[in-house]
Parts: sequence; C-alpha cells; structure tokens
Amino acid sequence: MFVVSFIPAFKDNYIWLLTEGKRAFVVDPGDAAPVQARLEADGLALEGILLTHHHADHQGGVAELAARWPVRVYAPGNESITGCTHPLSGGECIEVLGQPVRVMAVPGHTRGHLAYCADGALFCGDTLFGAGCGRLFEGTPAQMSASLASIAALPDTTRIYCAHEYTEMNLRFAMAVEPENTALQTRVASVAGLRAAGLPSVPSTLAEEKATNPFLRCQEPAVVAAALRQGATAREPVAVFAAIRGWRNNF
Ligand SMILES: [Zn+2]
Repeated sequence: MFVVSFIPAFKDNYIWLLTEGKRAFVVDPGDAAPVQARLEADGLALEGILLTHHHADHQGGVAELAARWPVRVYAPGNESITGCTHPLSGGECIEVLGQPVRVMAVPGHTRGHLAYCADGALFCGDTLFGAGCGRLFEGTPAQMSASLASIAALPDTTRIYCAHEYTEMNLRFAMAVEPENTALQTRVASVAGLRAAGLPSVPSTLAEEKATNPFLRCQEPAVVAAALRQGATAREPVAVFAAIRGWRNNF
C-alpha cells in the first residue's frame, strides 16, 4: 500500500500525496507550486494525478505539473478538465503505484464528482467532509444522498481523506443539529485539541463520521426531528438531508 501524506494549499485545501518509494501520485493539485516544491524536497517522481472534480482549487495545478512530468491524469469524463488523459465515469478499477483503486461516482457537489477508494482509504474530494458534506452546486439532494449512502456502505475503518480542513466549522453546525450526541461532544473536544496543536483533523474514519456527521445520520430520530423543525416536508432520508443541507447553507 502506498504511503499517504498531505501538501497544504491555499487557505484550507489538502492535496494528498501518495508515494511508493520515490514514485508519487497526487490527488486534486489545485496549485502546482507546493506540489513541485515537495517533489523536489523529497526527490520524488510524479507519475499520475487523480482528480475528483473540476473546481479550480482541485485542478488548477494540473497543466503546470503535466508540463514537467509525464503524468497520467484521471478525472471525471463529463466535466471540463485541463489535460485529462484517462476520463472516468465511476465503476472502473485503476492501478495507482501498484495498488488497485476503485473509482466511485459520487455526484452532488458537481455532476461528475468521483471518489477513489484504495485499500482502507477513500479520497472523496468535496463530497464528504469531516462532520459535513459538500454544497450541492450541480446535483440534487437525491443524488448527494445516494452518493453519501454508497460511501457509508464502505468498511467502518475506511480513512476519509477529504480535500478541505472544514471539520471544526462543520462540528459547530453538527452540534446545532444534535446537541445531545455524546460522540459528537467528544469529537468537538478532540478536534479542538488537534487544531490548537496545529494538526490536521483529517483523515477521520468512516465510523467517526457515521457517529457524528449529520449528513450520514438522516435516519436518526434526533436528526429527523431537527430537519422537521427546519421545514422538512417528510421524514424520509432525502427530505431530511435536503432540509439539513439547506439549513447548513445559511448557518
Ligand atoms: Zn469543489
């Protein structure tokens, strides 16, 4: 299994660096400069790029990196991506540094959003965040609910490598949804400790997300009740998800 580390970019993005010896892949390089600096510092050779979706803070560094390295660029085939060499639609299995990686279609944040699932690790871009989920820029609540359900069906030990450090902010919202959730209260304290020490809150595990992330808990009575107070039109999970997501947009 490749080793995973992160390259910080912009204000709160994580560019995930996958290495096997001196061979490297990066996930969502929104900016080439910090990636190039890390490759040089560690003497790494970049072989490929995995993109989850088309937003500039995820693909902005691709052209510059592809000009310097003979990279394969895997990306959603139905989104506008600079330099995509391997268009994907979900369901494929690709090889990354000798490791099989399963491609999942997780539309909602964007219409072609992909997640990449390796042995125990999920690179999910802006779909699932620590204690939150991405905004619905191009998809519907039903699509995002189905995407999150497909992630929730992975093993509980799966490490969730999302693309932003949003956990602390998301936890404040999660506490407004479920103030009595003791797992959530515990996570608030542990994430505050990590952030105060300058450490990332990512990756979390899927088990932690299922216990504390309101968007994975749309069948929990407390989350359903909160959604109904926010004007949910029904108790079924998509309606609950839509109401909670709408509340979060204005939180
Ligand atoms: Zn995005």
